[in-house]
Amino acid sequence: MSRTFERGSPIFEDERPLTDDWDPEELPERDEELGQIHNALAPAIRNTGVGPHNMFLFGKTGQGKTAGVEYKLDDLVAAADDAGLNITTSQYNCAGDSSSYHVLINLVERLTGDNLNGHPMSKITDAFFDAVTDIGGTVIIVLDEIDNIGTSDEILYSIPRAKSNGNIPDDMHLSVIGISNNFKFRDNLSPKVKDTLFDEEIHFAPYDANQLRSILERRADQAFKEGVLEGDVIPLCAAHAAQDKGSARQALRYLYKAGELASNTGSDMVTEEHVRTAQERIDRKNIEKGIREMTMQDQLSLTAVVALDVEGQTPAKTTELYARYKDIATEIEADIRTQRSVRDHLLELDLMGVVTATKKQTGNRGGPHYVFELGSDLGMTLDILSEDSRIGDAIDLVTTNRSIQEYLD
Ligand code: ADP
Ligand code: MG
Repeated sequence: MSRTFERGSPIFEDERPLTDDWDPEELPERDEELGQIHNALAPAIRNTGVGPHNMFLFGKTGQGKTAGVEYKLDDLVAAADDAGLNITTSQYNCAGDSSSYHVLINLVERLTGDNLNGHPMSKITDAFFDAVTDIGGTVIIVLDEIDNIGTSDEILYSIPRAKSNGNIPDDMHLSVIGISNNFKFRDNLSPKVKDTLFDEEIHFAPYDANQLRSILERRADQAFKEGVLEGDVIPLCAAHAAQDKGSARQALRYLYKAGELASNTGSDMVTEEHVRTAQERIDRKNIEKGIREMTMQDQLSLTAVVALDVEGQTPAKTTELYARYKDIATEIEADIRTQRSVRDHLLELDLMGVVTATKKQTGNRGGPHYVFELGSDLGMTLDILSEDSRIGDAIDLVTTNRSIQEYLD
């Protein structure tokens, strides 16, 4: 039977608050962090000689970093209008750029319309500072998801030093707000960048279930028709997202998907069952995408975690996982990397949310170390890993009782 498209919905009042590009009217869960951003920006309006401080925001994805900065910059621009001050902000996402060079080319193109691809770095840097100088006043450049530039971090050195290097006039201010989803990025910055760049570091810790609940409640109020959400719908979305990465983005996805499932099946209520189905589909998609994008070595490191998880031996230390990794890599005749490199792969997997890494402080020498466990559903992960022919062999090995028994002996 063919279905007809229908206007309106018994479920949704307005779907926009459930999407990612919705700008929240408030972020009370981030009061403290927004306060820190506020203080760092305040010199721009005080207008007593110095510009806004450079900032570096970091925290996992979905923590309100992008939304929080946008929120405070809107405030700032409004205050500047009132005060008759010339303040320009530019929010740029570095997701598609692998180096400072690329970021600068795109910034120049955005500011001037000229694409200088292929020109030497010095020329592009000059063009950037010329464009900034033309704007004048106070210019704030947001480099979102800056971790994508890896160790090619010159831009984080040159922007904060622009005035002292004579690249921009003395009577203007240029500052940078770096935002990173990746904690390791900060540690890997070159020493000269670390020295000069960040006046303020602002950490966005993962949301807990209660915070996610209130975030969802505010958005659901605007998005859904009155009374269509079964009582536990929001708490379930919040709890599941909190257990995973504490991401508001993920919690919103669960809720939106559950609403769509209800809508598509002609239900006039969003039920807990809809939420469970939505979670399963979204989680599975995430893991599939994650695993497909992984290198072979990431997949092998993950297989080691899976193997120890099957045996109930997680959380496990790097040494334990490395031993298992070597067995598996040997078995399928893959390259064997160093323990350090495997640990780095495991930390990458933690960022993706497939593995959970917990930092432990060791009392005596050696400093902190990590323990790792599976961060995603075991059955789902096994399933998806098995689809790859080579890793599939390793998975067979991990899941047959015979080999598990051998490992246990
Ligand atoms: P990040 O930049 O840290 O990855 P975002 O700022 O993009 O995260 O937030 C992800 C989603 O969650 C966005 O839709 C954002 O509007 C929403 N969000 C995050 N924190 C809050 C909050 N405290 N209140 C309302 N919405 C929020
Ligand atoms: Mg962001």
